Amino acid sequence: METILLNNGKTLPLEGFGVFQIADQALCQQAVLEALQEGYRLIDTAASYFNEEAVGRALRTSGLPRDEVFVTTKVWVQDFGEVKTRDAVLRSLEKLGLEYIDMVLLHQQMGDYYGAWRALEALVGVSNFYPDRLADLCCNAAIPPAVNQIECHPFYQRHYDLQVMKDLGVVPMAWGPLAEGGHGIWTHPTLEAIGKKHGKTNAQVALRFNTQRGVVVIPKTTHRTRMAENLAIFDFTLDQEDLSAIEALDTGHTEIIDHLNIDTVTFLNHYRIHD
Ligand code: NAP
Repeated sequence: METILLNNGKTLPLEGFGVFQIADQALCQQAVLEALQEGYRLIDTAASYFNEEAVGRALRTSGLPRDEVFVTTKVWVQDFGEVKTRDAVLRSLEKLGLEYIDMVLLHQQMGDYYGAWRALEALVGVSNFYPDRLADLCCNAAIPPAVNQIECHPFYQRHYDLQVMKDLGVVPMAWGPLAEGGHGIWTHPTLEAIGKKHGKTNAQVALRFNTQRGVVVIPKTTHRTRMAENLAIFDFTLDQEDLSAIEALDTGHTEIIDHLNIDTVTFLNHYRIHD
């Protein structure tokens, strides 16, 4: 597994396993266990995915030493604030049944994220921060975030955002690295042609595109064969011709969630994950 060095000295695998939309506890536990057995060593969950308990159970069942798996969770907007964020992390720790979490992300660039960041400064990342707010946070934080988890895939490549993160020393992590199955990704002719050349699937080409440019990926699947498929991406290299063809697929905008849309800002600020 290729890795990437964070600005806090920790090492992150370049590919992990995401568990968004696996709300069924038994299914989530099974998927995470199988992912660990397939060789994934980074698991990405969140308080708002309602499956931290299942992730923790899978980790314990796997029998893997704790320090071999990098566990990420996220604090929801409702829990942003110096005291509330600390309490939220303690709740996540309890649900995961772990003594420590490797990385806690602030889930959205909404609400009192400054208060939340002060509570978390060493813990260590943010999510869905656009370049302006990320730069602003870095200017004001005692410890800058190590990671920013953002939507990123061949149809929304975010060149400018990635350049800003590089300049700030923040590692990008792609959620939706398979565009959540959108844009006809599984049968897209450009990805198919490149895949054929390397003996790889469209999913593998899409994931390699990100990892090759230093973007960590955390694809989600509940199918074991796909877990293996999504992990088998470090034995080929996309050449310049492949990269140019993929770069032409960039639409420059999201079709999943636009965090700059006022309705989205209002919705996320009001979304509650507990009483
Ligand atoms: P994704 O990984 O881009 O796509 C997942 C979809 O692709 C699922 O429907 C899955 O179906 C399918 N799939 C996966 N591998 C496949 C393959 N090789 N062939 C065919 N289909 C395949 O989308 P995502 O789950 O939204 O993103 C990944 C992770 O990012 C999440 O699980 C979560 O941890 C994180 N995330 C974070 C945020 C945030 O705001 N920070 C937002 C969204 C997601 P099956 O399960 O049926 O295989």
